[in-house]
Amino acid sequence: MRLASRMQRLPPYLFASIDRRVEQARAAGVDVISLGIGDPDEPTPAAVVEALRQSAGLAEHHRYPPYQGTRAFREAVARFFVRRFGVALDPDREVLALIGSKEGLAHLAWAVMEPGAVAIVPDPGYPVYAAAVELAGGEVWRLRLDPDRGHLPDLDRIPSEVAARARLLFLNYPNNPTGAVASLAFFEQVVAWARAHDVLVCHDAAYSEITFDDRPAPSILQVPGAGDVAIEMHSLSKSFNMTGWRIGWACGHPEAVEALGRLKTHLDSGVFGAIQAAAVEALDHQEEVTRRMRRLYQRRRDRVVEALRSMGWPLEPPGGAIYVWAPVPPGWDSIGFAATLLERAGVVVTPGVGYGPAGEGYVRLSLTVPDDRLDEALARWKASGPRYHPT
Ligand SMILES: *Cc1c(COP(=O)(O)O)cnc(C)c1O
Repeated sequence: MRLASRMQRLPPYLFASIDRRVEQARAAGVDVISLGIGDPDEPTPAAVVEALRQSAGLAEHHRYPPYQGTRAFREAVARFFVRRFGVALDPDREVLALIGSKEGLAHLAWAVMEPGAVAIVPDPGYPVYAAAVELAGGEVWRLRLDPDRGHLPDLDRIPSEVAARARLLFLNYPNNPTGAVASLAFFEQVVAWARAHDVLVCHDAAYSEITFDDRPAPSILQVPGAGDVAIEMHSLSKSFNMTGWRIGWACGHPEAVEALGRLKTHLDSGVFGAIQAAAVEALDHQEEVTRRMRRLYQRRRDRVVEALRSMGWPLEPPGGAIYVWAPVPPGWDSIGFAATLLERAGVVVTPGVGYGPAGEGYVRLSLTVPDDRLDEALARWKASGPRYHPT
């Protein structure tokens, strides 16, 4: 058998290789605590599971669902968007169901990119953006998220020859891996830049509902006229503890939504209707769950930040998402640090370099482990793990 040459440029997915390392340590008898993967530990709300149970029996859901998503789902998205962001979306032209937002992010590149075209991706950033652009034959240009600007990029650093060839700009706030939250003022600058350079902005809002200190994250679509330049990807995965269900949506820019939808008609046949019905229950009635999750992650964030500070770490608490992005001590690199922490404390963190060259010098800690395991991980780290200023 011969594989396509594009496969040679495709590295193993970051989290797949972490899984392997954890398995090896576990096989060796280590009680490993993984802060490596962002997958909510709390269960899906019971009412959502019950909605699936009831809808699963309905014959209407046993046939192919509509490609763009059920009308009920798209209308629930529109209701959520008005309530949450004060933005009116047309459920027919501006909302598209996705099999999880990762699917939409990856396929958007196929609708927009081609050889010679550039996509600007955040560095550090979710690895899916760059991989999808390269698979689609496009060129990746990495835009550094500046720690001194609260992990926002400086759009003026994009050279004009890059901007001229750029078709797509990926952004993601609340941000994975840095935990940064963007202001509406920043999105206003982004929309103005995108308009000036005729670039489609793809804003990945997978963590839109997870922010701390009572500061909700804005949608880029709140910027007047943003629908002319921006498509926004949303997900029920992190907001409602539904990563296993595979449901999200794309919204905004009608031509981009149409193109992505048309591409997908050739690739998949939609999301099981009963899952969409369960998602309607979540969007319409489970706001309390998102409130509870914000409180839970904020408490965990505070414990992690406090523990790391007590070991010498210079650290500002993140404003959102489910991660703490911590610099490695001077003299370390991110892979070496993560390997040492696993060896000494049995604690897994993700090396920052996996999120792009600008992620070197950092590790990412996920807040999605139960409180007692998180405390145990921090206690072990304090007892035997590396400190920020090695003595
Ligand atoms: C988890 C995550 C997603 C994917 O979520 P799904 O909707 O489950 O596919 C997208 N973007 C970022 C940045 C994520 O961390």
